[in-house]
Amino acid sequence: MPVSNSVDREVTRASATDGDAGGRESTDELPINELFYSLQGEGTLAGVPSVFVRTSGCNLRCWFCDSYHTSWEPTHAWLDLEAILEEIESYEQAEHVVLTGGEPMIHEGCVDLLEALDERGYHTTVETNGTISRDAPIDLASISPKLESSTPTPERDPRSEIPEESRSDERRPTGAANQGEGEWAERHENDRIDLEALTDLVESYEFQLKFVVTDEEDMPEILELLADLRDAASVPIRDDDVLLMPEGATRERLEETRARVAQLAMDHGFRYTPRLHVDLWNDAPET
Ligand code: SF4
Repeated sequence: MPVSNSVDREVTRASATDGDAGGRESTDELPINELFYSLQGEGTLAGVPSVFVRTSGCNLRCWFCDSYHTSWEPTHAWLDLEAILEEIESYEQAEHVVLTGGEPMIHEGCVDLLEALDERGYHTTVETNGTISRDAPIDLASISPKLESSTPTPERDPRSEIPEESRSDERRPTGAANQGEGEWAERHENDRIDLEALTDLVESYEFQLKFVVTDEEDMPEILELLADLRDAASVPIRDDDVLLMPEGATRERLEETRARVAQLAMDHGFRYTPRLHVDLWNDAPET
């Protein structure tokens, strides 16, 4: 199983309606939801031992979010960069660091952290939804643009993927579906694609474009977005840079989606990426 060090943290919950992680923002500290050592589960570096720094807070609300406690119900401890670096360095065998979320790029402090990691010789991957670009030393931008099928609706209740014991009903007395419908559906739909930010990311960094796919109905939107991005960007975007990843944060759900997504990858000449951490540890936290 993956491991994490225990640090003395005052864990707080920010408002679930915040796009950030609770309004306390400076460049020398970050809201950390999890920091742990595991295997990269997705993308071209799947299987590589890595330290994961999961920041809290996201500007989107995908109904299937597999890091529910960084988006719908952000939970975190504020750690300064020194404490974060100290914990990363405690995993002496690790050469790769994955900065993930939530959406890590909403935090200005991620730039300072990436610079410090670069100085120490780490390979850094940033897992981002592609709506924000920042100037930082990033070795791999792992960009996951969110499709229309990610938008929360009354029929797509984000809690359906969350274990009962992990939910906090007191905070959401009207239920997640109502929250998604009333408060976040429109905002999510408006903000989920930013062609300018996507173009800047693919032009600035080595990248992979990782799409969460439920079924073939997602493909026309992927192909249209790729055509727009290829028109806008000054760098080539090869089919090999495009990864299709089955939707599902549990083994049970992946059983339903993985075979048809693998077939779609073959049909279109794109890569298929597994979700190795789900195969190995299902939906356990810190994996
Ligand atoms: S962009 Fe990522 S972290 Fe944000 S809600 Fe969607 S899946 Fe969750």
